[in-house]
Amino acid sequence: MVGGWLLTASTHSWLNEDFKILEVVMANPKRRHSRQRRDKRRTNWKIKTKSLSVCPQCKSAKMPHRVCPTCGYYKGKEVVSVDIA
Ligand SMILES: [Zn+2]
Repeated sequence: MVGGWLLTASTHSWLNEDFKILEVVMANPKRRHSRQRRDKRRTNWKIKTKSLSVCPQCKSAKMPHRVCPTCGYYKGKEVVSVDIA
């Protein structure tokens, strides 16, 4: 990663001696990266699979560490009442 700020101070003799010009120059990449380099960087851009756990109450798949949306149970107790149609 190329970054950071470079602060350059320059004094111009044709101006007032005490007058200083401060310009902010940002660090920039020297060259464009090749297509191979760009594509190699993107090889590990993958979609993560959602982790699922099984509800011990109703055995349906649910998100871990969350109340079961099917039966409303969490840690063996009914936390949320779910209407069964
Ligand atoms: Zn459940």
